[in-house]
Amino acid sequence: MSEPLFDRLALIGIGLIGSSIARVARERNLVREIVISTRSEKTLARAEELGLGDRYCLDAGEAVEGADLVILCVPVGANESVAKWIAPSLKAGAILTDVGSTKGSVVRQVRPHVPDGVHFIAGHPIAGTEQSGPDAGFSSLFENRWCILTPDGSGDETAIESLSAFWKGCGSNVDVMDADHHDLVLAIVSHLPHLIAYNIVGTADDLETVTKSEVIKYSASGFRDFTRLAASDPTMWRDVCLNNKDAILEMLARFSEDLSAMQRAIRWGDGDALFDLFTRTRGIRRSIIEAGQETDAPDFGRSHSKKDA
Ligand code: NAP
Repeated sequence: MSEPLFDRLALIGIGLIGSSIARVARERNLVREIVISTRSEKTLARAEELGLGDRYCLDAGEAVEGADLVILCVPVGANESVAKWIAPSLKAGAILTDVGSTKGSVVRQVRPHVPDGVHFIAGHPIAGTEQSGPDAGFSSLFENRWCILTPDGSGDETAIESLSAFWKGCGSNVDVMDADHHDLVLAIVSHLPHLIAYNIVGTADDLETVTKSEVIKYSASGFRDFTRLAASDPTMWRDVCLNNKDAILEMLARFSEDLSAMQRAIRWGDGDALFDLFTRTRGIRRSIIEAGQETDAPDFGRSHSKKDA
């Protein structure tokens, strides 16, 4: 096993993402020591029961003391208050990063609190599930997934390289881009799909002419694939909407226009337009499979044996 990349890792927040980082960092010997902090005694006790770290502190300031890598793994709306809390305790030369799903807001909210001599590089691992909490994490979560770093130009190259090496150690591929561009890209590939899913599932729940039991009973026809996204953490997604407002509104406007065009094609019986669109979109899924970002098994690899039916 190779030498650890960092001596002390402090994880602030130990839900799905924090606990997955703890697990992979331990499994692959990426760090010598892991210190865990979270706001509730209950979650901290659970992290300890799961053996996710070496030390556990309710006080985030105490947790980051002496750490050379600090990763904020809290909802994006909580980053600023956590940054204020830990700022006086950060070690000179430490790398401070986060895993938030929006980046422009995190940079704007965290940067002003970062002391001189601490390298702040915002980040976002493009990996997750619809589950939350320390039990939900697993060490292979980041394997062959992308992690986007959005340095704001004030950090040094060596720190960016060290953080990239950490994420590569977790199994990720690393890309570096501007925070605003990240927010635009993620608005279409992640935020809009979640909002569409929340909306469809909400609409189905509100229908009066189709009963809830019918929606559930016949969900295998497509609906259930939306319910995975619509089961995602409400706090996380509230914060994503509030913190990537402009890019999300821009993508929603584009989406509404395209939906109107589809409505028109259906109304006027324009089968060619519908067929062309559906052919184009099928190609996108093929490209995602070819890029190794999805299984090629039919129906997402769900088992269809009689036993499971
Ligand atoms: P999670 O499982 O719900 O865990 C959240 C953690 O943050 C818990 O330790 C929780 O503490 C703490 N926390 C919650 N609200 C807080 C607050 N107001 N102040 C301080 N701490 C707070 O969340 P997650 O899925 O790991 O997401 C963490 C971050 O990763 C988010 O910024 C999210 O945008 C990003 N992300 C998520 C995914 C995904 O698929 N889930 C993917 C990529 C990135 P307690 O339990 O002690 O209350």
